[in-house]
Formats: sequence, C-alpha cells, structure tokens
Amino acid sequence: MLGWIIGVVAAFVVLGYFRMAIIWWTLAAALLAACLSAIAGFGFTANVVLFGAFAVVALALNVPPLRRALITNRILAVYRRILPDMSPTEKEAIDAGTVWWDGDLFSGRPDWNRLLATPAPRLTAEEQAFLDGPVEELCAMCDDWEITHERYDLPPHVWQFIKEKGFLGMIIPRKFGGLGFSALAHSAVITRLSSRSNAAAVSVMVPNSLGPAELLLHYGTDEQKNHYLPRLAKGQEIPCFALTSPEAGSDAASIPDYGVVCKGIWQGKETLGMRVTWDKRYITLGPVATLLGLAFRLYDPEKLLSSETDLGITCALVPTGTPGVNIGRRHLPLNGAFQNGPNSGKDVFMPIDWIIGGADYAGKGWMMLMNCLAAGRAISLPASSVGGAQALVRTTGAYARVREQFRTPIGKLEGVEEALGRIAANAYLMEATRVMTAGAVDAGEKPSVISAIAKYHMTERARQCVNDSMDIHGGKGICLGPNNWVGRGYQVLPVGITVEGANILTRTLIIFGQGAIRCHPYVLREMRAAKEMQGKEASIEFDDALTSHIGHTLSNGIRAFVFGLTRAAFAPTPDLASPEIKHYYRHVSRLSAAFAFLADVSMLAMGGALKRKEKISGRLGDVLSMMYLVSATLKHYEDQGSIREDLPLVRWSVRDALYHAQNAIDQVLSNFPVKALATLLRWAIFPMGAPFRPPLDSRNHECARLALEPGLARDRLTTGVFVSKNENDATCVLEEAFLATVACEPIDRKLREAVKTGKLEAHPGIDIAASAREKNVLTAEECAQWQRKEALRKNVIKVDDFPQDFGRAEIVEKLAGEKSHFSSAAKAA
Ligand SMILES: Cc1cc2nc3c(=O)[nH]c(=O)nc-3n(C[C@H](O)[C@H](O)[C@H](O)COP(=O)(O)OP(=O)(O)OC[C@H]3O[C@@H](n4cnc5c(N)ncnc54)[C@H](O)[C@@H]3O)c2cc1C
Repeated sequence: MLGWIIGVVAAFVVLGYFRMAIIWWTLAAALLAACLSAIAGFGFTANVVLFGAFAVVALALNVPPLRRALITNRILAVYRRILPDMSPTEKEAIDAGTVWWDGDLFSGRPDWNRLLATPAPRLTAEEQAFLDGPVEELCAMCDDWEITHERYDLPPHVWQFIKEKGFLGMIIPRKFGGLGFSALAHSAVITRLSSRSNAAAVSVMVPNSLGPAELLLHYGTDEQKNHYLPRLAKGQEIPCFALTSPEAGSDAASIPDYGVVCKGIWQGKETLGMRVTWDKRYITLGPVATLLGLAFRLYDPEKLLSSETDLGITCALVPTGTPGVNIGRRHLPLNGAFQNGPNSGKDVFMPIDWIIGGADYAGKGWMMLMNCLAAGRAISLPASSVGGAQALVRTTGAYARVREQFRTPIGKLEGVEEALGRIAANAYLMEATRVMTAGAVDAGEKPSVISAIAKYHMTERARQCVNDSMDIHGGKGICLGPNNWVGRGYQVLPVGITVEGANILTRTLIIFGQGAIRCHPYVLREMRAAKEMQGKEASIEFDDALTSHIGHTLSNGIRAFVFGLTRAAFAPTPDLASPEIKHYYRHVSRLSAAFAFLADVSMLAMGGALKRKEKISGRLGDVLSMMYLVSATLKHYEDQGSIREDLPLVRWSVRDALYHAQNAIDQVLSNFPVKALATLLRWAIFPMGAPFRPPLDSRNHECARLALEPGLARDRLTTGVFVSKNENDATCVLEEAFLATVACEPIDRKLREAVKTGKLEAHPGIDIAASAREKNVLTAEECAQWQRKEALRKNVIKVDDFPQDFGRAEIVEKLAGEKSHFSSAAKAA
C-alpha cells in the first residue's frame, strides 16, 4: 500500500512536470483517496463520506460553470477589491510593445528550438558597404580631443558629412529619402561610432531613436511625413525631443508643461491652435535643433476639440524659429561635447496641426511615446555600450601587453589579468545581446521588457568595463589629453546610465514590474478580466486564466524541484545545441522554472505591495535579465558557427551570469517577508543546495589571453570597432606598439639571456639593442626592430602635459587679479 501511495505521489509529480489537465489530477487524487481508505480500513459509511466529499470537490473543480459559481467568481470579487487601480499612463506603459523571448523565460519552459531557429541576424551588402565606407570615414574624421576639449562640438565639416551621408535618417525609409536601415545596421553604425567619438555617436543616435522621425513614421499625417521626413533624412532639419522638465525626470508622465487649446492668428488667419508653456532641460541636440519635438499636457477648457477638458500628454513638432521659443543654451554633461541644453517657451501659439498625427492625436502622446520607446531603447544604448566595451578590449589588452612593470607585461600579472579577462568576457556577452536584440526588432518585435534589460545591463557592464580599464591604465587613464583613450569614456559613461530611463528605476521598477504583468502568461489576462470586463465574460475569462495560472505555478514548482534534485540532467535543450554548451541550456531551463515559480509565489505573498518592494523586484528582474543575457550568449556562439577559440568567453560569461542569478534568488529568499514560505521555496528551488559557482580563474586567464594576443579571436571580439590607421593617432600608435611588442618577444628573450650570461650589461641610459648588435647578440634587422618597438612603447606610455594656462590665456589673465588679491590677503593673514 505504501508503494501505491508513493506511486500516486510520483504520479502527481509527473502530472505537474508535464502540466497535465485538471482531470488527470482528479483521477490521481481519487487513487490516493482509495489508497488512504484501504490503509485506514474504512468501512462503508466512511467510504461514502470520503468519496462523496471527493466527488463534490472534483465536480466543483472540473465543471467550469460550477467552478465559477463556487470558487473563481468569489476570488474574482476579492481580487477586484485588492487590485490597485492603474493610471492611464501606467496602463499605456504596460500595454506598449511586444513580448518575445522574455515570455518564454517567464513561462518556465523556454522553447530553445524556437530561439535557435531564428535566423542569425546579418547585414545586407549595402549596409555593410555603408559601414565600411561612410562610417569608417566619419570615424577617421573625428579627433576626440579636438571635439571634447578644444571645440566642445563636432567640427563643421563633420556635421556636414553626417548630414550629407544620411546618418541622421537611418530609420527613415528610402521613399522619404532616408537610408531605411535594419535595426542591426543602425546598431552597428552606433557601435562603430561609439568606439571612436561619443559626441558623434550621440549626435547620430538621437535623431534615429525616440524622437520626431520615429513618431512621425508611426503617427504622422501624410502631410507631416511628406514635409518633414525628407528634410530630416538629409539633415536639413536637426531634431530633438523634449520631454524632461526640472520637476519631472523619471516620473515623466507628470510633466507640468501645458498647452491650452484656443483660437489665434496664424499667418494672418484665425486658426485653431494651442498656447503652449514649457520649461525643459537636458535636451540632446536641443541647442542646435531646428525642429523641436515637444511633449506637454493639453487642456481644452472651451471644448474646442472634444468634450474633455484634460486631453492628456500631447506631442507636437515645433520649428525652433517660432517666435517665443527659447533655445540654444547648453549644459555640459560630464564634458561630453554633444549638444545638450534647456529650452522653454511661454504662451507660444502654434496651430493644432503641429500635433504629431494632427488633432486626432491630441492627448495620445504618452501612448505614442510608450509604443515607440522599445525599438530605440533596444538599439541606441546597447550599441554604444558595445562600441565602448569593444574599444576597451582592444586598447586595454594592447596597453596591458605593452606596459611593463616588475619586468612583466602588466596583463600577465594575475591581478590585472582578472580585470582584463572580465572586460573581454563582458564584451562578448554584450555583443551577443546587441545582435540578438536588434535581430528581434528586425523580426518585427517591439520588445519593451527586453529593451529595458538590454539598456540596463549593457550600460552597467560598460561601466564595469571602463572601471576595469581605468584600473589597468593607472595614471595613464587619469591624465586627460590626446594620448588618453580611456578617460573620456569613463567620464561620460554615467550619461548612458541616466538617460532613457535611469538605471535604478529601470532595474527596480520596470524589468520585473512590467515583465511580471506583461510577460507572464496569465497575470495580464486576470487583470483585464477583473478591470475591463463585466458579467459572464469576466467570469469565464478570469476562471480560465486563474485555473491555468494555478496549473502553471504548480507545474513550475514541481519542475524546479525535479530539476534541482537531478541537477537539471533532464531539462530541455535545443536539438541543434553544440554539445560543449548543451548543459548551459539545461541550467537556464532550470532557472526559468525556478524563477517562474518564485515570481508567482512572490506575487501571491506580497500582492500589490511587491511594486513598492523594489529591492525584491529588482532582484527578480536580475534573474530574468541574466537568463536573457545567457540565452543571447549561447545563441551568438551557435550563430557564429561554434568557434572553439571563443569558448572561454562563453563559459566565463555564462557561468558568471548563472551565479548572479542564483545570488539574486538567494537574496530574494533571504529577504522574503513570509519566512516559512521562504524556507519552503528554498527547499523547492535548491533541494541539493546552490548549484552554481563563480567562473574559474583558469577561464578568466583564457579570456584575458584572447585580449592580449593579436589574432582572429581578438579581431572577432572587437569586430564592431574603428581601428585607426592614422600614425598621428594615439590608438594607432598603441596598436603598432602592441604588434611590435609581440613580434619582439623572441628578441627580448635573447637580450635577457645575454644579460644573464654576462654578455651584455643592462643599465639605464644604455641602448641595449645597439650594444647587443655590437656584440653580435642581435642581427642588424633585430636591432632595428627592437629599437622601433622601444620608440613605439615610449610613445604609448607617455601622458600629456599642458602649459599652466591650458591654452586659455585670456582666462588666466582675467583671474590674475583675483589670484594676486588672494595672495596678498594670505600674506596679510
Ligand atoms: C545627458 C542627458 C541627455 C538627455 N537627453 C534627453 C532628451 O534628449 N530628451 C529628454 O526629454 N530628456 C533627456 N534627458 C533626461 C533623462 O531622460 C532624465 O535625466 C532621466 O529621465 C532621469 O531624470 P532625472 O535626471 O531628473 O533624475 P530623477 O528622476 O531625479 O532620478 C534620480 C534617481 O532616482 C531614481 N528613481 C526615480 N524614480 C524611481 C523609482 N520609482 N524607483 C527607483 N528609483 C527611482 C532614478 O533611477 C535616479 O537614479 C537627458 C538627460 C541627460 C543627463
């Protein structure tokens, strides 16, 4: 009998694992009841009571009308009472965009075959030609020191080139004169530009991201499209988009900027229009914009447009030459030289047809912004982060090979190697994420949650890369000047962290907060049934969603437990997986089940309060994010043809991400408000203890080696970057010095050997190569090769210094009086 009971319990596990319908659960429960009755030796009456009660419960659960009447309608009533009201702006944010691989990860059962069947994203020949032509040319034209220190702007000829070659119209279709590029190409252009000049990249990025062109393409009237898109495509208009105001940054929906619908005189005629008052700040390209995309709240007190008074957020296109528009002053965002500044206007009259989409779209601005946010967010900052990270792999690896301390290239010292290996592996994972995410956009997705994941994690990893690189460069990274290739990136990095949804908010409020509702297979259905439906329709929909939800949660709990017990040995993997990485798919399948279970139980335990428990939801978001980053890394490895040389990068970054995900789960459980539930959850998710360990030092060593050796692996790892061929350019000298250093290593060995055996003397001030030549230790060619390497090396390690006045004589002169005043005051004291 005990065997029967164990068998029935095992049957429950199997039913849960395969998520069988409720009728199978009922049959298994009937069998269990029969076993219990036999063990207990129930008589006729007891059996009638037991099976009678069982039949009632079974009917209530299996017959939908009964189930609704007895159970789910009651739950619906309670749910309606406790479900917090959603503001229209929150609702629009939740509804925006699409669900893609994030939905799979949220389901607990990612369909790996579907992911791997997605074709590897590729550039067209024309896109590649643009990348190899105008983009390379533009990069070569940019001198970052000139831009960020001398001009605080792009030089006029660079601006001209950007406009003429269509950089500002990459997302504009060809029929409007734009380049009509894919998301992948757009992202590749930003990646390359970012590896060379932040100012150039930002100036190109912004018009191609959320702003006038994107909004016009989706919502513009034909007249607006035909007028503005060709002009934007050719750079005849410089756009900006102004949403942020001093009072409303992250909480952008609360902008105080407003317009009032009214009649006014426009070009000599009485015209229906709006008087708009605004005060914006931080607006990129604002100071040089000719076309201001403006977001404000529109009111219609005289009901000239509709029966509503408060129409809501509205987006309009305002030529900056319009009387009353104050534009042109600049901010100085961490010495980034891209144009950024405030703008304002008071009671500026503008015709109603300046609203993007015309009067019909008055008040629909927030919906428009939310719907268009995902594509740009999936491309701009992920691409610029990759450009930065890849450039750092190339320069930091080269520098760590050229720079010696303790008679060793610093890259071979373990402490430095640790940081370098991390940069390399992060760059691989970031490129994988960039490509997969852009590919999703090209496949028609507007991945709202994924774009938040990509934005947050790519900018954070770029921050980690640049911090590591700064540490490796030591003083060389700190003293700014034309010979410093890392300092400006370090300075300007927080811009990416802050814009397009500041990172703390993105992590703690958006990734899981939006994901839990949007990507969860049932939560949104339940909410809609409760809030948007009535009567029988609501009852049927809620019942179906809720019962499926319960099955989903149970199933994920059981799967997480089984995967935990078996160390994911039987978890799903794709048919086409490369054998050397197959186990990683299993680990993510396991994590996915655990995450889905934990997410459901957290929502159940904390309800609406989970939204305010940002520390918990941030960590849940981390688990989802890590699974996405690992998925991208694995797919990238497969898409590139499973190149074994790159395997250390995959292994390090996947292991690191799995370990992070595990830690995030651990921290959720440690801080779970219901302690008993946390213990149960821990037992279900980690029945054999925590399975993942941090990446091994040996892997880190292999990753660092890829950055320290010239060759195909290094080139692949930095495939997106611009490599300067200009001998006056510090990065070109660095590259030459790197190659020369590697090539000279056999000569170095000869010299060391000669010194050791007393054939040569090595003193500071002695040209050791020349003396080695004299003593026939080196050939003439070897001597010349070594001396060239030395000259390059000395060039690489030098840092810039400046006259006292930094070239600003007039400022020094102006301050001279104050200084002398100070010194005489000091003397007197
Ligand atoms: C260089 C630059 C360029 C920009 N370009 C543009 C542009 O072209 N157009 C435009 O409209 N705007 C632009 N912005 C504005 C940018 O989008 C905002 O800076 C951003 O939204 C954050 O707003 P804030 O700076 O006012 O920070 P705040 O909103 O004051 O936020 C401060 C901190 O609080 C956190 N925080 C806020 N709310 C929450 C929450 N609920 N939960 C957790 N954490 C939270 C944030 O994450 C942040 O860390 C730009 C900003 C900069 C710096």
